[in-house]
Amino acid sequence: MSTPKVRPFFCGNWKLFGSLAESVALATGVRDGVAGISAADVGVSPSFVALNTVAAALKGSNVLVSAQNGYWEEKGAFTGEISMGQIADAGATCVILGHSERRTIFGESDAMVNKKTKAALAKGLRPIVCVGETLEERDSNKTLDVVRRQVDAAFVEIAAGDVEKCVIAYEPVWAIGTGRNATPAQAVEVHAFIRGRIAALIGDKANQFCIQYGGSVKPDNVASLLCEPEINGALVGGASLTVASFVDLVKKGTEACSRS
Ligand code: PEP
Repeated sequence: MSTPKVRPFFCGNWKLFGSLAESVALATGVRDGVAGISAADVGVSPSFVALNTVAAALKGSNVLVSAQNGYWEEKGAFTGEISMGQIADAGATCVILGHSERRTIFGESDAMVNKKTKAALAKGLRPIVCVGETLEERDSNKTLDVVRRQVDAAFVEIAAGDVEKCVIAYEPVWAIGTGRNATPAQAVEVHAFIRGRIAALIGDKANQFCIQYGGSVKPDNVASLLCEPEINGALVGGASLTVASFVDLVKKGTEACSRS
């Protein structure tokens, strides 16, 4: 396969942080900070309660809004759940699915991630499907087996034309929120492997498929990762929680991509 050529996508994952006022201030600060960036997509993922307010504040800007999760049923007796239709109605265009915190803390299975991916696509949302191994799995040389299982399961019974619309975030669990990022070589190995699995579904178009890296990405390490053509952006937790660090990270990452 030839070298991937993918428009980079940087998405902040705000997790369970931020009042309404703080979320709007962060979102509008990011909007202003990245206004001059045309060579990358930039997104933010507020909590559900701030989703609509942030989407309204960002309307007309080049910053995308993503939810952090979503349920596969459209309506019914599912107390506490939020449907993909409600997320789209709130003004989001993307949704993070299968984040490791959802998988480990809330027991989400590969089959659930598949159902959520299908439901998101049906409502016109762009799924950001998270995959990645634990430290124990890496140490016992199971990384590629785990990632293969997660990627293959996420796209079961999804047509090639829909797979193309998705994003995968490779997030080694041991690197999330720990300050310990994967080395570029470790990330590239897994990204190339994921691209191979995607190529089995969509052929040569896998070279345009966006695979983000996530796990302790910061302004000072983003360039070393994003200068690799296999790494097409970042899903960012901690460093997306202040305007200064996220805007700096996006600028440095976009610049590194333009040189890759
Ligand atoms: C994440 O939440 O997806 C993440 C990668 O977090 P952090 O950047 O803080 O490691």
